[in-house]
Amino acid sequence: MCGYNMESARAIAPGDILKQFESATAELGEVGMVKLYTSGSFLDTCEVPEDVAGAVLRSCHDRGVRLLFESRPEYITPGRLDPVLGVHDDIEVAIGLESSNDRILRYSINKGFTVADFDAAAAVLKERAVDLRSYVLLKPPYITEAEAIADSISTVKHAAAVSSTVSLNPVNVQKGTLVEKLWRTWAYRPPWLWSVLEVLKASASTGTRVVCDPTGGGKERGAHNCVGCDDVILHGIKAFSQSQDVSRLGAPDCSCKELWRNLLELEGSVMGGTCDLQRFFRRHGASAFTR
Ligand SMILES: [Zn+2]
Repeated sequence: MCGYNMESARAIAPGDILKQFESATAELGEVGMVKLYTSGSFLDTCEVPEDVAGAVLRSCHDRGVRLLFESRPEYITPGRLDPVLGVHDDIEVAIGLESSNDRILRYSINKGFTVADFDAAAAVLKERAVDLRSYVLLKPPYITEAEAIADSISTVKHAAAVSSTVSLNPVNVQKGTLVEKLWRTWAYRPPWLWSVLEVLKASASTGTRVVCDPTGGGKERGAHNCVGCDDVILHGIKAFSQSQDVSRLGAPDCSCKELWRNLLELEGSVMGGTCDLQRFFRRHGASAFTR
């Protein structure tokens, strides 16, 4: 589902990364926090060389700003983290846990690490009082909508126990990915916004901050309902993420909720899940029947 590898250029040299950082931060006014997204692992020295990471950390230290970066758990070791904290100790580390189910991590996501690896990294961070932000992926391929909801609810619970923030990320269909191939053959539908609401409502009681900003929300390639109710639900999700007030998620009424409910039940008894007939007929109309 991740298309970042398609967008990375091998010609980028370490110096370019630093130049990008410097030109971006030069335009910043007074800020309390910088989020640095390398779309990979900031702590992997093959991706961000040690001297570049060091320069970024020093810059944040001098400015007195908190730095958030992402890393896979295998790089979150005392050996790599302690020198980082030696330069700048006001950091927050984000890990894409995605799922707390090893089978889903392996077969639906091809993540390349296990839940135990995440737990070990979380423990290293906790020992050093470093805040952890965990990402949870809603509806990777090869599971039904209902399975996706249940998986994300239990993953948020798992992550919330060791995180200061949990970010729920509904899958969006990115170019050049296997998910796009499945989507093009009507075999994959991004999660319903009803499902996003379901997970957020169930997660509000964890006591940990839960946020969600669906990429491509309301679009065919992102989490969406019937178009008619998408905006009001997305608005509620945004309001909840900012306020943590579960009443902001609201309970909008729309006829597509019944369809979603039926699909949740139906998918469990259909081998391999249902195809995305709604989008098929929107594209081809009923005339597709007569061909
Ligand atoms: Zn609707």
